[in-house]
Amino acid sequence: MKKQKIMNQKYLTAIIKNSRVEVFEYYPEKDKLILYDERMQKVKEICNYLDYLKGDTIIHPEDRKKAAVFFSGERKEMLEIRTIEENRIHTKEITMTPVSEKEEPLCCVGCIRDVTLEKNKEKDMEELAKKDSLTGLYNHFWGEKLISGYLDNKNPNCPCGMLLVDIDNFKTVNDTYGHLFGDKVLVELSKLFGCIFGGKDIVVRFGGDEFILFLKDINYASLVAKIMEMMESIRKLVFEENDYSMTCSTGVCFLPENTFGFTYKQVFENADRALYKAKERGRNQYVLWNALKQEDKNVSDLEEEKTNRHLSKNA
Ligand code: GH3
Ligand code: MG
Repeated sequence: MKKQKIMNQKYLTAIIKNSRVEVFEYYPEKDKLILYDERMQKVKEICNYLDYLKGDTIIHPEDRKKAAVFFSGERKEMLEIRTIEENRIHTKEITMTPVSEKEEPLCCVGCIRDVTLEKNKEKDMEELAKKDSLTGLYNHFWGEKLISGYLDNKNPNCPCGMLLVDIDNFKTVNDTYGHLFGDKVLVELSKLFGCIFGGKDIVVRFGGDEFILFLKDINYASLVAKIMEMMESIRKLVFEENDYSMTCSTGVCFLPENTFGFTYKQVFENADRALYKAKERGRNQYVLWNALKQEDKNVSDLEEEKTNRHLSKNA
């Protein structure tokens, strides 16, 4: 019997050690928490635990209320909280199970597990899933989500614009200088976008040699100034290893003040049509497609005007 008890103890210690958990007992009626080490030796006893939780503990201030709710009876399956230990944020999962018999005072046994590494890996994976692997810019999927989110909740007083940028004759760049140089061109262009745009702008690699730049809360004059700056900076990009000077074509869709109800698809399609025009007109230029203003100089042909009216009605 004694042998069996020693064996149980050894097994329990091994299990606790291997599962990297801290074990505790909590007595709700006495509001007392007892923390044990892996050999089930008492390490710490805290009376008035709910009061203790309200104080300045290692629990992240934003999670203290959540922890108090968990221990005060509204116990869910699992509690996830952050702690601050040696200036680092840890994520801990806490589970608790009642173990007492009917006539005994309620006793719960719980486990605390540090899941910081798993959580950080999860966050890294989530970040990776949003990004294009070559350029580090947002990918098409995440870019659409961000832009749609903005358009769906847009303040009608705030104008905005979408730029669809496509490198001119990029296939020839690959064919002439090789695919690796082509990759470098895409990376350098992305870095340039990072310098020109930032903060609240959404910069996306749509795919291949096409990029979306979505500028929130920007008036017409500032948008045009930004486009001119971008087009000029692209022409000035220098690639030392090859005698290549890059040009791009840009299609722009501008949503002026007091415009709302436009979807990502509508804005993108307008920018795409404008890009098509820019390519058709000889490349190395931008065409601005104003969704509402018919008098825009670049938007002159009848087909475009028809589309504008159609979109205005839908807006
Ligand atoms: P246009 O002026 O009409 O835009 O002509 P273009 O040659 O740029 O257009 P097209 O769409 O025919 O070519 C885009 C090329 O981009 C085709 C494809 O091989 C190349 N491409 C797409 N993704 C990558 C990439 O990740 N790296 C490299 N190096 N090339 C890519
Ligand atoms: Mg191209």
